[in-house]
Amino acid sequence: MSEEIKKLQPEKLWKNFYSLTQTPRPSHHEIRAVEFLKNFGESLNLETTVDEFGSVLIRKPATHGMENRKTVIIQAHIDMVPQKNEEVQHNFETDPIDAYIDGEWVTARDTTLGADDGIGVAAALTILESKDIAHGPIEVLFTATEETGMYGANGLKAGLLKGDILLNLDSETEGELYIGCAGGIDANIEFTPTKIPVPANYTALKLYVKGLKGGHSGMDINLGRGNANKVLFRYLNIIDKRWDMELADVNAGSLRNAIPREASATILIPNKNLDGIKECVKKYEAVVKNELGKIEPNMEIGLTNAEMPKYILDAKSKFNLIKSVIACQNGVIRMSANMPGLVETSSNLAIVKSVDDKIIVQCLIRSSVDSSKDALASNIEAAFLLADAKVSLDGAYPGWKPNTDSEILKLALDIYKHNFNNEAVITAVHAGLECGILGAKYLNWDMISFGPTIQHPHSPDERVNIESVQKFFKFLTLIIENIPLSDKKHV
Ligand SMILES: [Zn+2]
Repeated sequence: MSEEIKKLQPEKLWKNFYSLTQTPRPSHHEIRAVEFLKNFGESLNLETTVDEFGSVLIRKPATHGMENRKTVIIQAHIDMVPQKNEEVQHNFETDPIDAYIDGEWVTARDTTLGADDGIGVAAALTILESKDIAHGPIEVLFTATEETGMYGANGLKAGLLKGDILLNLDSETEGELYIGCAGGIDANIEFTPTKIPVPANYTALKLYVKGLKGGHSGMDINLGRGNANKVLFRYLNIIDKRWDMELADVNAGSLRNAIPREASATILIPNKNLDGIKECVKKYEAVVKNELGKIEPNMEIGLTNAEMPKYILDAKSKFNLIKSVIACQNGVIRMSANMPGLVETSSNLAIVKSVDDKIIVQCLIRSSVDSSKDALASNIEAAFLLADAKVSLDGAYPGWKPNTDSEILKLALDIYKHNFNNEAVITAVHAGLECGILGAKYLNWDMISFGPTIQHPHSPDERVNIESVQKFFKFLTLIIENIPLSDKKHV
C-alpha cells in the first residue's frame, strides 16, 4: 500500500520518504536509519561521517559557478516518535510504517507516520542527490535521537561543521518561519522534614484540587490556566493559621514538563474545627474560580476523609515547605520585547511530592534569553534555600534568542513573498528546539527553521499535507539557489 506515496510530487522526495518509512527509526533504535543515510551519502561519493552519537554528516560541494556562496547546513533529525493505537500489534524496531494517501494528506495506518522529521530528512536527501539544483557548498546534518533528550544535538562536536547558515527542517506549519526557542533548566529541591507523632483529637482529611486543564509547561504557559500545586498551597497557607492545621504528606503534580492538573495533601484538623473548615473550602473554591474565570470551569477543590497518618511534619518543617512553595515564582515572568506574543521567560512549579522521608519539589524554568533563565533559576533557588531545602539546578540547555535582523530570515521572507504571493509568518516557540543547542556550539550560525504542515505529530493521527510538502521543498530549493556570497572569499 505504502508504495502509492512514491507517485506524489516532488517524486524524488517522496521516494526518499518512502525509503524512510521502510527503515525502522524509533528514538534510541536508529541504527538501521543511520546505515541507510551513510550508504546514501557514500553511494553518491559524498564525504560522509557518523559521529559517536549516531548523527550523520554529509558534505556536497558547490555546483559549478556557485563556489563563492556561503556554506549552508541543512539539518533534520533521524528519529521518530513511536506511538500506535492500543489495539494493534506493531514493533517499531523492526516493522515498516504503513503510509497511505488520505485525500490531501499522507498518514499511516494505526501508527505515527514519522513525517516529523522524515519529510525534512527526505528533502535533504533529495538536495544531496539532485543534479539540477544550483547551490553553494552544502553540509547536511542528520541529528540522532531528538525526540527524547536531543542527544545528537547535545553530543555534536563544536568546530566540526564549516557552514554559516543553518536551515532546520523540523517545523510543522508551512508558511511559518521559526527564529527562536526557549532554553530550560530544572530546579530540583529536596526537603528533609522533621516528623513528629500525630496529636490527639484531630481528624485526618485529604484536601484536593482537581479538574484543571494542565497542558505543556512551555507552549501552554501563557493560557492563564491554573496550577494545581499553587492553588493547593495557597489554601494550605490560609488554613494553617486559621484552623490549626497539621500537614502529613503532599502529592501534587506528576510530570516536569506538564502544568499540574491535580494536587492533594493529607492534613489534620482539630475535631472542633471540622465544620468551619468545610465551609471555608467552599468559599475558597468560589474565590479561585472567580479569578480563573471561564478558563477552568471544571476545577474542584474539596475535602475527603483520609486514613490517619503515622506522623506529621513539625511546625518548622511545615512552615518552611508551605512558605517556600508560596514564594516560588510560577507562570509567565516576561514576554519577549522583539517578538509580540512570545513568552520569553517562564517557570512551571511542576511537582511537590512526599517520597519516603523527603519532600521533593521540581520546577522547570524556560527562557529564550539564557541570562534571564539563570536569573529566574537563582530567584527560585533562593526561595527554597531560605527554607533550609537542598537545591540543585540541573539539565540546563540553551535557548535561541530571536534575531529579527537575520540575513537568512530576510532572504527567506523575500523569496516566500515573491514566489507564493503571500507573507511568511515569523514566529518562535516557548519550548526547546535543536537550534538552541546547536547555536550555542556554533555561535556564528544564522538560523531559521521551517517545514511542511504536519498535524498531530507524536500521535497515531499524525499526517502531513501533500501540497505543503511540495511548497516546502520549492521554498527550500529557492533559498539554497539564492544563498548570499561568502565574505570569506574576499579575505
Ligand atoms: Zn521533530
